[in-house]
Amino acid sequence: MIRRFKPVPGIHLADRKGTEGCRTETVPIPGQILIPMVQHIGAACVPTVKKGDAVLAGQVIGDSDAYVCAPIHASVSGVVTAVESMLCFGNRQVQTVIIRPDADQRLLPGLSPPVVDSRESFLKAVRASGLTGLGGAGFPAHVKLNPPKGVQPDLLVINAAECEPFITSDYRECMEHPARIVAGIQSVLKWTGVDKAIIGIEDNKPEAIALLREHARDDDRITLGVLKSQYPQGAERVLIHTLTGRRVKTGKLPADAGCLVMNVTSVSFLQSYLDTGMPLMKKRVTVDGPFVKKPGNMEVFIGTPLSDVFAACGGLTGQPEKILMGGPMMGVSMHSADVPVIKNTNALLVLDRQLGGMPAESACIRCGRCARGCPMGLQPLDINRAVVNRAWEELPSYQAMDCIECGSCSYVCPANRYLVQSIRLAKDHIRRHPVKAEVKKA
Ligand code: SF4
Ligand code: SF4
Repeated sequence: MIRRFKPVPGIHLADRKGTEGCRTETVPIPGQILIPMVQHIGAACVPTVKKGDAVLAGQVIGDSDAYVCAPIHASVSGVVTAVESMLCFGNRQVQTVIIRPDADQRLLPGLSPPVVDSRESFLKAVRASGLTGLGGAGFPAHVKLNPPKGVQPDLLVINAAECEPFITSDYRECMEHPARIVAGIQSVLKWTGVDKAIIGIEDNKPEAIALLREHARDDDRITLGVLKSQYPQGAERVLIHTLTGRRVKTGKLPADAGCLVMNVTSVSFLQSYLDTGMPLMKKRVTVDGPFVKKPGNMEVFIGTPLSDVFAACGGLTGQPEKILMGGPMMGVSMHSADVPVIKNTNALLVLDRQLGGMPAESACIRCGRCARGCPMGLQPLDINRAVVNRAWEELPSYQAMDCIECGSCSYVCPANRYLVQSIRLAKDHIRRHPVKAEVKKA
């Protein structure tokens, strides 16, 4: 079944999805694999191997007893040459297992489909797969699929919107593995007790819509929710609101609004794990931007340095202004091409000055465009003013914690105000100085 939905406020961006026709190609195993012990939201993994150990592909090399955590596996076989602190994403020092791959690429013996015969064994399998949200968020999937006691979602929302320019990684998953996506949805419905599912996908992907429709034709629990192409349609809270009219309140989870949300590549990988027992070792990454010689969609062994990914794309043709991990709106700028691809890397963009430069700010002209484009109904100009003037006491009234940091306000601002940056500062200030509820005296 197909249903069409009207979008909530957002902005229109040029697609720039020039790689949508590029079938997935595999990047060769590099000379060195760097596997950080932080690849998800939650507790860091603790390395379970040490320098000199031989490892096999699929072997757990990092884990933790913490609930919000997922194990990390060796993506290749080889020898651990070091376990050391490395400057990683967000300028954090992260414990990293460094592996020198061997020529054999031996798999860990005994990798086989997990036995799943109950909700508990299903969740155990999801954790063992190492799955974290592959769309970019990186939340451990076994936590997401296990809502708090007393909360039973009635809808599985599959996020195939992929609304950021350039990125076509999820689109390729839809084109190359539609049957596996549908089977994955059916597995999740079966073991979580959720009644039905809806696949949220933008109307600029007609071929993927047709394929998914064809494969889901015989299952009336699965609906295709076709969305108008608009940014940030794929943001979790925006997607839920567009498809269901339900709102996820600040500080609450989608499950509190009756929804489980999974990225489309995540649900497809999960089915692959249930079928084969092969944990998360590779990731498809869109590689694009003005300086990439041969843009494409590349399947990359997790831990491969970005420089090796670029080499597999024919190399770079110029000195980048910026290398982004993720899309141009929400991606994170990398300090070096030596950092590795991790589980939730969905795109690498190599930008020139025109696309990646930071224009100078000028005074706000109070045009209101930032507020009109905000999907969360905020007033970015007011938050920006409060931060610039250090008027921290004003922040609580502006609902800054509702900001999903989509960047729409900054994008549309004719004065190039650093709106998202100032809202991040505001959120940081609110977290550090929470307003204490007044205790009413009897
Ligand atoms: S879009 Fe920019 S210039 Fe316009 S009101 Fe917002 S901050 Fe001011
Ligand atoms: S205020 Fe936040 S949610 Fe609203 S447009 Fe700006 S970045 Fe997006």
